[in-house]
Amino acid sequence: MEENNEKQLNFLEEIIEKGLADGTYKSILTRFPPEPNGYLHIGHAKSICLNFGLAKKYGGKTNLRFDDTNPVKEDTEYVDSIQNDIRWLGFEWAGVHYASDYFEQLYEWAVELIKKGLAYVDDQTLEEIRQNRGTVTSPGKNSPWRDRSVEENLDLFERMKNGEFADGSRVLRAKIDMAHPNMMFRDPIMYRILHAHHHRTGDKWCIYPMYDYAHGQSDSIEHITHSICTLEFDIHRPLYDWFIEQLGIYPSHQYEFARLNIDYTVMSKRKLLQLVKEGYVSGWDDPRMPTICGFRRRGYTPESIRNFCERIGVAKRDNIISYSLLEFSLREHLNKVAQRRMAVLDPVKVVIDNYPEDKEEMLTAINNPENEADGKREVPFCRELYIEREDFMENPPKKYFRMTPGNEVRLRYAYFVKCQSVEKDADGNVICIHCTYDPATRGGDAPDGRKVKGTIHWVSARHAVNAEVRLFDRLFAAEAPDDVPEGGSFLDNLNPDSLRTINNCKIEPCILDDIKQEHYENGVAAPVRFQFERMGYFCTDPDGNADHLVFNRSCTLKDSFKING
Ligand code: ATP
Ligand code: MG
Repeated sequence: MEENNEKQLNFLEEIIEKGLADGTYKSILTRFPPEPNGYLHIGHAKSICLNFGLAKKYGGKTNLRFDDTNPVKEDTEYVDSIQNDIRWLGFEWAGVHYASDYFEQLYEWAVELIKKGLAYVDDQTLEEIRQNRGTVTSPGKNSPWRDRSVEENLDLFERMKNGEFADGSRVLRAKIDMAHPNMMFRDPIMYRILHAHHHRTGDKWCIYPMYDYAHGQSDSIEHITHSICTLEFDIHRPLYDWFIEQLGIYPSHQYEFARLNIDYTVMSKRKLLQLVKEGYVSGWDDPRMPTICGFRRRGYTPESIRNFCERIGVAKRDNIISYSLLEFSLREHLNKVAQRRMAVLDPVKVVIDNYPEDKEEMLTAINNPENEADGKREVPFCRELYIEREDFMENPPKKYFRMTPGNEVRLRYAYFVKCQSVEKDADGNVICIHCTYDPATRGGDAPDGRKVKGTIHWVSARHAVNAEVRLFDRLFAAEAPDDVPEGGSFLDNLNPDSLRTINNCKIEPCILDDIKQEHYENGVAAPVRFQFERMGYFCTDPDGNADHLVFNRSCTLKDSFKING
């Protein structure tokens, strides 16, 4: 992978540096504004890394603001998970705020706009409002209620607030221009009536502000200097500016970047919620989910996700990033930090006939060749072992250098062994491989200098620990699961084989010590991660315990996906 040492500034960095240089602001304040209606996904991670990352780079700060203006779908469960995920990624917010904290202020400002003749109560139904909005090529029609007096508007708006009217019977609209070329300016709705319980304000309010009326003012209240959001909001920007200007409040500014899309997955919270609710996955943190908690459970590290976000950069145009790049970032980090262990996922028994029955010895293995400080460990060896079924072939093709009859191979860190015969069951399946070993090759090298072409991993049968291992494939079989023919659903693209569970895997015994310690990252419980030699990167799963070990495969050692088909 190409890495640029002399990094060019991205367009946001250019804007910030210019503003700092010309004194527009002394320091910067960004915000991350999730709606607490679901768990965060990898797209949010991009936004988090960007908002927190820019503030950090320029000595500024970042607020966490829950954009909780839509009471129906919001919940404190989501608020907690969002904070957890941001912390785990390694970021700290300056303040935590809620758009709902500003309901009173937003209401007062709405009254102010009414008094200025810039807002009115409209009795049209939502359907009528939609119909009268016009199209991109034709102007809209003024509402028959558009010219109400200020007094009448003030009275009606207050009564809306007091709960005198039914949901949907009235709205408050900004009075701008029903013929404006930007549809956003055709008297946008500021408030709707909704008798719903809010996760923080309870039943205090039965009118709720719309996104366009709440977001910019919330930014302004907090004195956000750079309100960074995704491209689809660019058409909202003039309206964002309009409200701030009419109210004469702190001039926050909005900037847009391209949202992150990843192949073979969906990223809308609504769809992720559907996967959870309808049981297609085990929960928001299912290791196949593109959620931050899903990646955490899968074994991703905060560093790997941050590096991924750094690597993809900040774009001004939408694009789709390959999932392989996420795995690349994970492998790159785990290669440096993961302890190596030996584990046999699909075991077949090996008996070393010339090794004494009652003998046991400890052999020395290196924990992490990438980091000497990780030291060494002892691995028990005895007469009966397990090796990977695929590491033995009776009739091998050319260039198969693993165990075959009469061919000498190295058992990693142990001895050279040679297969002498095999035992099979009635169906012809190999159930036991008989070998001899050369005692002079202890440690894995022959004193006479003879070489072997294959090295395979193994686990002592007498000492092995059993484990359940979960192997994952993509959750969706289609590159763009959302692209479905008329009448279809993204669910049609689910990969039926995305989870494979194997039982009775064999792991070297020190794993029991390895998993004893609880592991926290940035204060958040996280799995313990390993490289199982030759088999990939794995991590502990919360479904497991000391009596029943469960591991997830985070990724294979090499890219197993075909890039570009
Ligand atoms: P979704 O469409 O998945 O429900 P959302 O945009 O409604 O997401 P919010 O909670 O409003 O979710 O998002 C919080 C912040 O994260 C917003 O600033 C939004 O622009 C940003 N964000 C959401 N999805 C992505 C993405 N795929 N890439 C980059 N930023 C994103
Ligand atoms: Mg949103």
